[in-house]
Amino acid sequence: MNAQLSFEGVEVRLGRRVIVSGVTFELGEGEVMALCGPNGAGKSTIARAAAGLLPASAGSIRLRGSALRSVPPGDRARICAYVAQQPAAPPGFAVRELVALGRLPHLGLFGAESEKDRATVEQAMERAGVSSLGARPIGELSGGEQQRVSIARALAQEPRLLILDEPTSNLDLRFQASILGLVWRLSRDEGLAALVVIHDLSLAALFCDRLLLLAEGRVAGYGPPAEVLTAPLLVRTYGTPLRVLPHPERLSPVVVHSLAGHPQIANQGGEA
Ligand code: ADP
Ligand code: MG
Repeated sequence: MNAQLSFEGVEVRLGRRVIVSGVTFELGEGEVMALCGPNGAGKSTIARAAAGLLPASAGSIRLRGSALRSVPPGDRARICAYVAQQPAAPPGFAVRELVALGRLPHLGLFGAESEKDRATVEQAMERAGVSSLGARPIGELSGGEQQRVSIARALAQEPRLLILDEPTSNLDLRFQASILGLVWRLSRDEGLAALVVIHDLSLAALFCDRLLLLAEGRVAGYGPPAEVLTAPLLVRTYGTPLRVLPHPERLSPVVVHSLAGHPQIANQGGEA
């Protein structure tokens, strides 16, 4: 496996607080990894550190085998694209202009867009389902549409490593499946490595090869989704009653809430 990104014993501090520690994983070419865990567990912190936006205070982060902090920003931008949990979008920008920003790391000396740049922007917009929005000002779009525009910008960057922080949080069911299906397909067809922060464990199990479960800044589970997503571990990690069922179509866990903590609702009937 060709590691695009590796974390070894990584600790990240913000101010004086240790936010994550002892985080170790390897993300290879052609692989999709889900990063899951409760609110405040440190998922976004890991995503930002992986994108080179936060330094590790201990341990090492490597991008294609080189210490991440030694990779020049221009090279890094040609390898890695990152979509923040709440991407800042200049409201006056038209969708197509924003997506075209993804080409910046690839433009030549004079910054002129080539035919290939334009084609890549069009393809990225189509893949993210925003082709019909090209001329619209970004500030007028719904949260889910904005989220897909940010993903299109990242795709236009033609990264080898894609880091998405909660890409599906504002998306309807169709776009949840289409965005994650797209990431999965790019991993298989083009060898893309993807790190996806996601709350929906069942969705993660369907579309990701491996899952890292984070709890209070530490790795609580790491491996194939079916191995990590067990009821005892999830109940302990999230502190709420949950059940794990088999997916009807494949060997993939589906995580649902249990009403064990809500006896009044459970007693109202409707049980199977
Ligand atoms: P997640 O994405 O898993 O919800 P984050 O990585 O955003 O969690 O945050 C992890 C923890 O770090 C949270 O407790 C949050 O309050 C804390 N945190 C985030 N930013 C800062 C900061 N700038 N200074 C101190 N603590 C922070
Ligand atoms: Mg977050």
